[in-house]
Amino acid sequence: MIAALFALFAAAPQQAAQDTARVKQGVDYRVEARLDETTNVLAGRARLRYTNHSGTALDTLYFHQYLNAFRPNSAWARRELQFGNRRFQDLGPEDHAFERFRRVEVDGRAVAPVYPGAPDSTVVAIPLPAPLAPGATATVRMDWDARLSTLPRRQGRRGRHFDFAHWYPRIAPFDRGGWQPHPLLPQGEFYGDFASYDVTLELPEDQVVAATGIPVEGDPGWRTGGQLPPPEALRRDAYPARPAEALGLLAGEAGAGRKRIRWRAEDVHHFAWNTSPTFRYDGVIRASLDDAGNATPLPSIHVLYEPSDTGWSGNVTRHTFNAVSWLQGIFGPYLWPQLTITSRAEGRGGTEYPMLVMNASPSEGLVVHETTHQWLHGMLANNEWKAGWLDEGFTSFITDWYFEEKGQADVWDQTMEGLAQVERRGLTQPVGLPGEAFRDPATYNAMTYDKASVIFRMLREMLGEDVFRRVLRTFYDRYKLQHVDEADFAAVAEEVSGRELDWFFRQWLHTTDTLDYGIGEVGTARLPDGRWRTTVEVLRLGRAWMPVQLQVGGTSRTLDSREPRQVVEVVTRERPREAVLDPRAVLLDLDRTNNRAAIR
Ligand SMILES: [Zn+2]
Repeated sequence: MIAALFALFAAAPQQAAQDTARVKQGVDYRVEARLDETTNVLAGRARLRYTNHSGTALDTLYFHQYLNAFRPNSAWARRELQFGNRRFQDLGPEDHAFERFRRVEVDGRAVAPVYPGAPDSTVVAIPLPAPLAPGATATVRMDWDARLSTLPRRQGRRGRHFDFAHWYPRIAPFDRGGWQPHPLLPQGEFYGDFASYDVTLELPEDQVVAATGIPVEGDPGWRTGGQLPPPEALRRDAYPARPAEALGLLAGEAGAGRKRIRWRAEDVHHFAWNTSPTFRYDGVIRASLDDAGNATPLPSIHVLYEPSDTGWSGNVTRHTFNAVSWLQGIFGPYLWPQLTITSRAEGRGGTEYPMLVMNASPSEGLVVHETTHQWLHGMLANNEWKAGWLDEGFTSFITDWYFEEKGQADVWDQTMEGLAQVERRGLTQPVGLPGEAFRDPATYNAMTYDKASVIFRMLREMLGEDVFRRVLRTFYDRYKLQHVDEADFAAVAEEVSGRELDWFFRQWLHTTDTLDYGIGEVGTARLPDGRWRTTVEVLRLGRAWMPVQLQVGGTSRTLDSREPRQVVEVVTRERPREAVLDPRAVLLDLDRTNNRAAIR
């Protein structure tokens, strides 16, 4: 059944036309880095090969140095000041994060980095000695120092536990709209170009390490009963072998008490890692069998947690395994060789990186949410600061759907009631705004996560679950390992459903129009044949519109008139007691008290 659907929708004729403007730059990183725990500074050296697949010559390369958000005078710290939060503005010289170049060369010539947003230094421009023509490749060599902040926020350190969510100069994404450099701010997250990474890390020998990618050489320190996981779990052969390119930072052998681990990752838009000498390890190896009984390895799942983390042992691997299995049915295969869930220094929430999740708790909801991000943001890579709804709202919806399918019927109730209150109080802003345009973190969260999740649920209900599932599979099939945006998703939804949906995305993402259906007059009368004819006045009181279900007794009907007032007749065998609009409470209706009327 699934194979048939793929065949039907994989080769859509308009795909070529849509894709002409798509850009996928060539990004190849080789990195050597050494962590010095006496200073807590990571020294890095990278060789980046950047191939310009866009149609225009480039005179500048843009990079992100997002560790520089977590220090005084960053755009992040200044934004937090507006809300009375001084935590990063006041962070002292020993405690704040930094990421500083020591040297940058392009094609053998030294260049001086420029910080266009100074004093913020999360965006850096590297002027090229000569324009990079379409099809041409520039080789960038960089030396830098990086340190995490002692106050953890999406990165950080605590004792010997280091969360290197950001640590290297990461090339800014270049998409259909050109360069997309953007400072890191509290509202909105990440966006990146797909790349190939070959990273050698040198650390103290007792460190246990988790990372995006596969540990192709060296010992990551994972132990179960004193043993390294078996080769099927380590997957050292996941990529065709190739020797490590020596950059000279890690020349000779690692010294006494030190070790090196080489990691590789392909088709990921970020490389993150974290480490702690006290990490404990749980793992799951999976394989699928074909009809002839041949086993194919599926992504390994690794879980690393601190001894003080209660509830992790066994549970997180099980939740992750269940989530990956379910998500592969919703979208399509997990395309990378492993997925690691680790415990982080920051005490709340979680953050998603390709193949790696850093979580603060073993909660099943959190595991399912962050695992869903491997598809929605990881493999289907939207610009999270520009359209957070497309990964955060989508992911929140998928997570609720997961629990709905597990039998949790009331999973939506709290979100629906909370949002209706926000709508009634007029506190909404358009869901499609860029992250930093929301007036405060509470509104950003309510719109980007909650309202967007309800919008996806309304779409699922309106299209029907079968059609909606085909929309998701087609979206994945067509755009996996590529950048995606609203237009891509809307086009797939329209194509698969055969419906015009511009109005839906415009209304729900780009206006704050509210929806309020109500029942006016209701009456019923017996017909000569003994049945009952009920007349219901249906009022559309808000500016927004959606098809709405009207239930009269045991009969229900979908109303698709846009009239502010319509009178509907329903004939039933039995005398109906009640008329109800949107009986399953799917619509974001800001006043539900007028959705129900007794029939006397
Ligand atoms: Zn999320």
